[in-house]
Amino acid sequence: MLVALLGLGDDAAWPGRTFTTGATASNILGLACGREAVIAARFHSAAVTASSTSPAPAPVTVAEAGLLAACQAAGVREIQVLTSMAHSSLVKAASVLGLGHTAVKELSASADEPWRLDLDAVERELARDPAVASIIAVSAGEVNTGRFATNALDMPKLRSLANRYGAWLHVDGAFGIFARALPQTDEFLSLRANTAGLELADSITADGHKLLNVPYDAGIFLCRDAAIQTQVFSNPNAAYLATPPPAQTNKTTTTTPTTTPIHSPLNMGLENSRRFRALPVYATLLSAGRAGTAEMLVHMVRLARAVASFVRDSPDYEWLPDPNALLESTHIIVLFRARDAALNEVLVDRVNATRAVFVSGTSWAGRKAARIAVSSWRVDVDADFAVIKRVLTTLAVEANSAAAVGEAVSAS
Ligand SMILES: *Cc1c(COP(=O)(O)O)cnc(C)c1O
Repeated sequence: MLVALLGLGDDAAWPGRTFTTGATASNILGLACGREAVIAARFHSAAVTASSTSPAPAPVTVAEAGLLAACQAAGVREIQVLTSMAHSSLVKAASVLGLGHTAVKELSASADEPWRLDLDAVERELARDPAVASIIAVSAGEVNTGRFATNALDMPKLRSLANRYGAWLHVDGAFGIFARALPQTDEFLSLRANTAGLELADSITADGHKLLNVPYDAGIFLCRDAAIQTQVFSNPNAAYLATPPPAQTNKTTTTTPTTTPIHSPLNMGLENSRRFRALPVYATLLSAGRAGTAEMLVHMVRLARAVASFVRDSPDYEWLPDPNALLESTHIIVLFRARDAALNEVLVDRVNATRAVFVSGTSWAGRKAARIAVSSWRVDVDADFAVIKRVLTTLAVEANSAAAVGEAVSAS
């Protein structure tokens, strides 16, 4: 159902699938599969070059031999993760997997659009040195701005680069990938361009507990290569937990005679014992349906755009990152700051103290900024916008009169 909702193509193309604790865990799974795959690709090409006559040697894998031995056997000196404004959890994943924080390389297209991935730089890095293996990580929804790493034709280019250089293509679409479930109307044209081609990835991270509004502990991981995923995550040699290999399950409906086999989660992800994470997501999708989910997402985007338009046109606030951007670039996140430096200093606390609106504090271009992330099935665009407008207007009026009093006092 998720593959269909997100328009990821043939269901059978995603045999690697599991629910995780969240996007952090899904990013760990994605980089772990990528790490295994890129080393295998290098090992394979080294073996092909070394011998045209003798039989190919058995691959040395990270799963069996460990990272150091596998890299050595494959002639890999370095594994890098090429990205732009990756979520912090991707950097954490690089640490967990023995790649290290510094393996994550920022290849931002420009200072104006740091969330966009510089494809020329990606190609240069891929071609740099055969002893360097690469994972490309696409930020499909940057957490401060909600902007996207790719535009219409970028994913096909990244896919062919990954094929050419034996790289793994991972998408972190925690919240952003849900833009693909919006209605196919002009209103969402630019978000569709930003999320076009994400189905070309090798692995995908998404979060149920963000835009699908299910309780926490509902990360989603999809992978095209179930063999790699089970190689990495198989729970080896536990006879007492032996599960039969997945069988094709016959459905009772005649329209779809078979479904994709489901591997035991024990051998697809981190946990041994786990609760039935899929259940809340299943219930939500079943109750809302594709149309209901799209409608829910429409309300979130419209509220975010109403707020964006308000801060853009307000004399008291500044719409970030680019005040001249098109409103249609807004998904569900609005980044802004107060023009008045004193108000901006305390803006996040003041807004949150109203207990009517909650914003998170962040930093943009070296200065404090506030961030509204709209993520609720209960959004009522007009009513909620009125609350946000009232709160932001009141705070600005208070700050202006405080400033006026301050000037009057110092003048006297
Ligand atoms: C929220 C988020 C994460 C981390 O998600 P958790 O579910 O909190 O682990 C990772 N990547 C992106 C892009 C996110 O927005």
